[in-house]
Amino acid sequence: MDYQGVLTEIAASVKGLVGSGQVADYIPALSSVDPDQFGIAVADVHGEVHGVGDWQVPFSVQSVSKPFALALALAHSGEGIWRRVGREPSGTAFNSLVQLEHEHGVPRNPFINAGALVITDHLVTTTGDAGTAVLDLLRAESGNPHISVDEDVAISELANADRNAALAHLMASYGNMENPVPVVLENYFWQCAVRMSCRDLATAGLFLAREGVRADGSRLLSGSLTKRVNSVMLTCGTYDAAGDFAYRVGLPGKSGVGGGILAVIPNRCALCVWSPGLDARGNSVAGVAALEEFTTLTGWSVF
Ligand code: GLN
Repeated sequence: MDYQGVLTEIAASVKGLVGSGQVADYIPALSSVDPDQFGIAVADVHGEVHGVGDWQVPFSVQSVSKPFALALALAHSGEGIWRRVGREPSGTAFNSLVQLEHEHGVPRNPFINAGALVITDHLVTTTGDAGTAVLDLLRAESGNPHISVDEDVAISELANADRNAALAHLMASYGNMENPVPVVLENYFWQCAVRMSCRDLATAGLFLAREGVRADGSRLLSGSLTKRVNSVMLTCGTYDAAGDFAYRVGLPGKSGVGGGILAVIPNRCALCVWSPGLDARGNSVAGVAALEEFTTLTGWSVF
């Protein structure tokens, strides 16, 4: 596969979309990001890494951290976590409260904010420090020990935490929080505020393309659990646009409001694309288009 040629062609074809959409501004520290940036990287299971555009520029990973947190929770505790969080697509916005009351404080899936807060809570209980556990995993799998948390973003999220706090308190009222809400929020924002490049995220996501095998050859997850993380990414990774993402891209993918999307092609490669302009559902406009182009050009898809 001529990855470099494919990525160059994709960058040219989505050029007109870069800068369109809206940069996330409900987190004030993210609102000043230059929208005219675009990068894409592919890391293949044999160790080749290619990229074009701003593929080495670090950005705020936000919800792209969620599959890594889920993988850690499954690695620590196995399928027991499904007692506290579901695995159904939500069909509602990533930060929606509406289903929580109907479903007695059990969020639909681990990739909307409510579900991610449950996973963070679980990791606080099992590791003592969920934010650091996720950061350590990202550093180890990307091979980049310099990856760090953007404290301005973390503080900005903490200062504007009303909605996430409401989600956490509602779940606590149903007995679905093991740790104090402020502790869970702080750990969750810490994990969201990690800054990484497309290069680092694609490389870090490789264990999802390698049936759970980590960069050092050890195993984080069984092949079966890895398949399950990928399936939840496919059905829930882009919130209320997951159906459209599966239709257009046809891969497990996880987006974040920083404009990044991680996608996985099992046994082939992991991809990361980044462009800060978001559509109404919080997914990168140029990013989704670029992944759609990738699967069209290569013919690779889980279907
Ligand atoms: N930190 C963001 C939030 O909790 C993550 C949301 C996202 O990336 N979709 O609102």
